[in-house]
Amino acid sequence: MAKKIIKHSWAEPYKIKMVEPIKVTDKPYRQKAAKEAGYNTFLLKSEDVYIDLLTDSGTNAMSDYQWAGLMMGDEAYAGSKNFYHLWDNVKKYYGMPYFVPTHQGRAAEHMISKIMIKPGDFIPGNMYFTTTRVHQELAGGTFVDVIIDEAHDAQSKHPFKGNIDPNKLEALINKVGAKKIPYVCIAGPVNMAGGQPFSMANLKEIATLAKKHGIKLWFDGTRATENAYFIQQKEKGYEKKTVAQILIEICSYFDGMWVSAKKDLLVNIGGFIATRNKRVFDEARNMVVIYEGLHSYGGLAGRDMEAMARGIEEMVKPENISMRVKQVEYCGKELESYGIPLVKPYGGHAIFLDAKLFLPHLKQDLFPAQSLAAEIYEDSGVRGMERGLVSSGRDPKTGENRYPKLELVRLTFPRRVYTQSHIDVMVESIAEVFDKRKKIKGLKMVYEPKYLRFFQARFVKL
Ligand SMILES: *Cc1c(COP(=O)(O)O)cnc(C)c1O
Repeated sequence: MAKKIIKHSWAEPYKIKMVEPIKVTDKPYRQKAAKEAGYNTFLLKSEDVYIDLLTDSGTNAMSDYQWAGLMMGDEAYAGSKNFYHLWDNVKKYYGMPYFVPTHQGRAAEHMISKIMIKPGDFIPGNMYFTTTRVHQELAGGTFVDVIIDEAHDAQSKHPFKGNIDPNKLEALINKVGAKKIPYVCIAGPVNMAGGQPFSMANLKEIATLAKKHGIKLWFDGTRATENAYFIQQKEKGYEKKTVAQILIEICSYFDGMWVSAKKDLLVNIGGFIATRNKRVFDEARNMVVIYEGLHSYGGLAGRDMEAMARGIEEMVKPENISMRVKQVEYCGKELESYGIPLVKPYGGHAIFLDAKLFLPHLKQDLFPAQSLAAEIYEDSGVRGMERGLVSSGRDPKTGENRYPKLELVRLTFPRRVYTQSHIDVMVESIAEVFDKRKKIKGLKMVYEPKYLRFFQARFVKL
């Protein structure tokens, strides 16, 4: 019988003009490589990886328009024309008048934390992000998670698991006083919750509550375009608005933002601070000279800023942003067809395997997510990463492990890099590991660095 026509397919909105070959290895080779890397996927050599889903950070494929922009780099020490092009686009697409470039997101986080936070302050936020929290702590602040409870439940189907719980925020304000809260830190979609967005309704409610107490909102806008897309797709009243319009509306509630350009902006390096607060702008513009470089390049080459400026124009294009999220969705649906437990709803940039349900026989002390990421690499050369006990780290005061509710393996999609057939191969491999999951025995940590231990920790198999 002939196949029935169902028009639901989508395809990548680009064609391939240049290719980068990838190495195909066998299992004994990968088992050796995994062991040498201390079963930490961050310590693998990239050339030993077949499909690299470690991160979507700086791993994007640029367009011909962006590559052409690299040739237009104005490498003047001061006042590069690329800086002004980028600044114009930050104004136009994020709606913030002031702008300071940085070499990547954490440099912006470092400066904002230093400028805004006094020792003893509290910073409420919608779940922590690794580099964000560490800079808040180094500045003497204490991060307080005020995200809704559903965010900590991998199986909750709440459409906006990135929302802040206004009661938790109000309780913190009542407990420590508004003066001890320099800003509410909002990210979207929330990476550690599984790439989950906040809603515009929640943002408005939190903005009103914060305003009542004289507290500002600051935005980790690293993946703001994805959050805007989810609002368009899921929130009533936004169906007819463009992603670009929604992005501007989101930013309008914030005093300022920091961005890692290595995500949404479709480039390989870069970051920035953007704000409507002249005082913070003046301080950041002065501070950037110490840590990054002059305020008109902030640790970047002129050509990098040109690629960012052009990336901003491309990131909000409907075909680009919808393809990005649909590719992730395709992967999620395929994995689910094998009964593999995932965080739901699917994230904007990644699929998160629920390692607690995948490996129910492993206690959290045996690092189920770290183990699962290592097993998947050994099976097929697909590289994901741990987001669980290792990433969560230790409490800086007590030195105790912070046991997170979520124990996840993140499979993150570089933008415009892999095709649907790569995803098929990856899904088949994970299904194979799922079949043999009972044989996985867990890991023991044998080396633990002080900061952000997930990057460099080493393990042995039990
Ligand atoms: C990547 C990221 C950062 C840090 O940015 P870098 O460019 O990696 O320094 C901050 N916040 C979020 C949400 C991120 O994803």
